Amino acid sequence: MFIGVDLGGTKIAAALVSETGKIITDVNIPTEASKGKKHVLGVISKAIDHLLRTSAKPVKAIGLGVPGPILYEKGVVIGPPNLPGWKQVNLKQVLGKKFKLPVYVDNDANCAALAEARFGAGIGRKHFIYITVSTGIGGGIIINGELYRGANGSAGEFGHMIIDSHGFTCGCGNVGCLEALASGTAIKKRAGMDGASVELAARQGDKKALAVIDETAHYLAVGIANLVNIFNPELVIIGGGVSKMRELLLTPVRAEFKKYALYLPAKSVKIVRAKLGTNAGILGAAALCL
Ligand SMILES: [Zn+2]
Repeated sequence: MFIGVDLGGTKIAAALVSETGKIITDVNIPTEASKGKKHVLGVISKAIDHLLRTSAKPVKAIGLGVPGPILYEKGVVIGPPNLPGWKQVNLKQVLGKKFKLPVYVDNDANCAALAEARFGAGIGRKHFIYITVSTGIGGGIIINGELYRGANGSAGEFGHMIIDSHGFTCGCGNVGCLEALASGTAIKKRAGMDGASVELAARQGDKKALAVIDETAHYLAVGIANLVNIFNPELVIIGGGVSKMRELLLTPVRAEFKKYALYLPAKSVKIVRAKLGTNAGILGAAALCL
């Protein structure tokens, strides 16, 4: 048995997870991030404590997914934008000492990629790219069945791949990042309404909404074509809130992708939707322990 914790800016989801990815018990608690680091650490500890006490079997390790950059080996959270006051927090050390268990920490997009690899759309696949399209855009790279983290754990920041250096300014300060062009935030900016409303309008045939989806699909496809040309994956798995549009988004993405990808890598890849939905975070956090 493992404990997986998905630490978000608004809520903390934690669960007892079996080795096969079955959620045994779960808890959801508001993060109350504005109350600061100490408070949030207290909430996390309480959730873990509760799960340890309810588990019928011994818990072997704790995994955590956090919303931002992290030094993976050390388990140090650098300073996620959604968690004010969190600068250089050694979660691995703090929680390891408290619960006397091995602790693994990674960013939430890597966790979701790992969850799809072990329990979702990526089962049995050796090479795939996972992209989460939500308020922001993130991702994970699976090579030879393992998560590729890079030199200091920051690989897979697909959201900040520069697609149009004359485009919109991104939250990171750079110009023309994929995130600035194709995220839920970019959709909202273009359409003047949120992704769910754009989807509804598009399904009713609204031309402006359909144009916004097509433009989003175009930029996503350019990003995906770059990744596929570089990594030659078997699959591109798309998750995150915006992927709930399903074929309304994926069909134009596939059509645009064909225009930009090279023949050989395009031939062997499938663009599919993620399987795990909102549980990807806790399942991936638990999968860090496997
Ligand atoms: Zn950026």
